[in-house]
Amino acid sequence: MEAIQMVDLKGQYLRIKSQVDKGIMEVLTDTSYINGPQVTLFKNNLEKYLGAKRVIPCANGTDALQIAMMALGLTPGDEVIVPAFTYVATAEVIALLSLKPVMVDVDVDSFNITPEIIERAITDKTRAVVPVNLYGQCADLEGIRKLCDERGLFMIEDNAQAIGADYLMQSGVKVKSGTVGHIGSTSFYPSKNLGAYGDGGALYTQDENLAMMLHKIANHGQTKRYYHDMVGVNSRLDSIQAAILNVKLKYLDQFAAERIAVADAYDAAFKSIEQIQIPFRVAFSSHVFHQYTLKINNGKRDELQSFLKEKGIPSIIYYPLPLYEQEAFKKEANVQFLPVTDKLCKSVLSLPIHTEMSEEQIAFITNTVSQFFK
Ligand SMILES: *Cc1c(COP(=O)(O)O)cnc(C)c1O
Repeated sequence: MEAIQMVDLKGQYLRIKSQVDKGIMEVLTDTSYINGPQVTLFKNNLEKYLGAKRVIPCANGTDALQIAMMALGLTPGDEVIVPAFTYVATAEVIALLSLKPVMVDVDVDSFNITPEIIERAITDKTRAVVPVNLYGQCADLEGIRKLCDERGLFMIEDNAQAIGADYLMQSGVKVKSGTVGHIGSTSFYPSKNLGAYGDGGALYTQDENLAMMLHKIANHGQTKRYYHDMVGVNSRLDSIQAAILNVKLKYLDQFAAERIAVADAYDAAFKSIEQIQIPFRVAFSSHVFHQYTLKINNGKRDELQSFLKEKGIPSIIYYPLPLYEQEAFKKEANVQFLPVTDKLCKSVLSLPIHTEMSEEQIAFITNTVSQFFK
C-alpha cells in the first residue's frame, strides 16, 4: 500500500499531466505571464460554471476577502460578524482594515453560523456578515441573505472550502456556493478543492457595480492605466496558474464525486461507533468534503491522533484554537468563550480525503480507527 497522505497532489497531477503541461508550455512560449489570455479564459469559464455574472481573479483567498471588505466602503470601527471557528484569514483582513471582527459561535452539527446566531450579534455598528462554508458544505445562505437584506447588511461568503457545492434555494432552484451573498471569495491554494500549483484566488458577484469596484481595487485602484481613482492593492492571478486551473475546473465535479465516495465509505464504517460523530449533512447543501471532519466525543481526540500517526495515518485538527483565543485577536475579541467553538476545537479531527485514495487505504484507515475504539 502506498503511504497515506492528507492530500495527494502528485497523484492527481499525474492523471492530468499532459493537459496541464501543455497549458503551462503555452504560457511559457507566448510569454504573457501576467493577464494573459489564459486568465480571461479562466474568468469566463468560472463565470459559466458558477452561474456568476462576474468573476474577478486575484492572488489568493485572503486577498479576495480583503478586496471584498475594501469594496464595501466600510469605515474604521464598523462591525463585521464572523464565525469564531474558522481559518484566521476571515478575521485577519477585517482587523487589518481597522474594522471590528465580531466573533460568534457556530452550529454544533453543521460547524457553520446560522441566521439565529447572527441576529443575536447585530448592533447599530454591524455592516457586514461573513459566513464561511466550512469543510465544503454551505451555511444557510438563503436565510442569512434574507436577514442581511432585512437589516441592510452586506454578506460576503468565504467560499474557500466549498467551491463546487450546490445550495438548494427554497424555490427548488440549485445555485452554486459563493453566489448567494453580495460577494463570494475563493482560494486556489494547492490543497483546496480547486487548487492551483501555487497561490490564486477569485471573487464573484452578481452585481455589476460591485464587480467594477472589486476589479478596480485589485488593480491598484485604477480604471485606466496610470490613472488611480483610489488606493487599491496589487492582486493578480498569474497566467500559469490560470492555465492549470482551466484544466482542473473541467474535473471539479468529478473530483468532488471522488471525495464524496471516500466520505460515504468513512460514514458507513464510523456511523455505528458511539464515541464518534460523523459529519452532519444538511438538506439545503451538497457537501464537497474539502475536509472529512469527525467529532470525537469521549475526550480521546488527541490519543486517537497519536494512535493514527503511529500506524502511518496522518490527520489534522482544523482548528485547534478559537479565533478569540489567538494571541493576535485576544485584545480586540468581543468574547472570551463560546461553548460550541470551544468544544469543537477540542474534539474535531480531519482524516485524509482526496481524489487518489485507494480502497485499500480507505479500509486501512477505517479499520485502524475502529480498532482504537474497540
Ligand atoms: C484557505 C482559506 C482562506 C485563505 O486562502 P489563501 O489562498 O490561503 O489566502 C480563507 N478562508 C478560508 C476558510 C480558507 O480555508
